[in-house]
This record gives sequence, structure tokens and C-alpha cells, in this order.
Amino acid sequence: MKMRICCTTCPNECELDVEIDENKKILSATGNKCPRGLAFAEKEVVDPVRVLASTVKVDNGAHNALLPVRTKEAIPLRYHFEVMHQLEQMEVSAPIQMGDVILPNVCDTGVDVIASRNIR
Ligand code: SF4
Repeated sequence: MKMRICCTTCPNECELDVEIDENKKILSATGNKCPRGLAFAEKEVVDPVRVLASTVKVDNGAHNALLPVRTKEAIPLRYHFEVMHQLEQMEVSAPIQMGDVILPNVCDTGVDVIASRNIR
């Protein structure tokens, strides 16, 4: 099977054309300007990860009572739906500082959801 993958490791955003077998092993890859692109493609084929960004309700404070949040690092896409569901159920209290942990170790990934801004 052939796939096109955009490497997001650096601002070059190389587009790789990869061919994979039935076990998701990469048989060939072109388009990457450095070896990190191949490493990215191998991970992307097996278990793609992305940073998740969302909002949670604030029970007091300014800014329309919504706090922007994001995962501190990329987490597997397969967990995004569950994390979004958990964030929808949450309500936090101001004051909140940018970088405060809002939800620790989401889905046992070792990655925290953190505040993306200050709320007074
Ligand atoms: S392949 Fe290398 S140069 Fe291209 S986007 Fe990925 S890390 Fe950057």
C-alpha cells in the first residue's frame, strides 16, 4: 500500500511517499530531506501522534469562562476522543497560570494536559 505522509518534525514539512507492507513495515520512502523523516513515517504508520488542543469550562474568572488547554506533548491519536470526553466533563477554578497541569498523565500516556493561558 502507498501513503503520503507529511513530516512535522521540523519546519521543512517534507512530504514523503511511502510504501508499506501488510504488517505496516515501510518498504520504501522518498521525499524526506533527512533520516528523521523516515523515523517519523515509521511512527506515523504504526501509531500516529498529535498534540491535542481544546478548552475546559471555568467556574469563575474572565475570558468567557473557557480555558484553552493542550497536551504538553503529542499523544497517540487513538486517545484523542477519550481525552476530549474527559475535558468536556471538567470544570476548573481561576486563578490559573499558563502551564498549570489541568489533567495529569492522560490515558496513562505520561503526558499532562496544561493550561495555554492565564485566567485571573
Ligand atoms: S524529513 Fe527531516 S528535513 Fe524534512 S521535515 Fe522531517 S525532519 Fe525536517
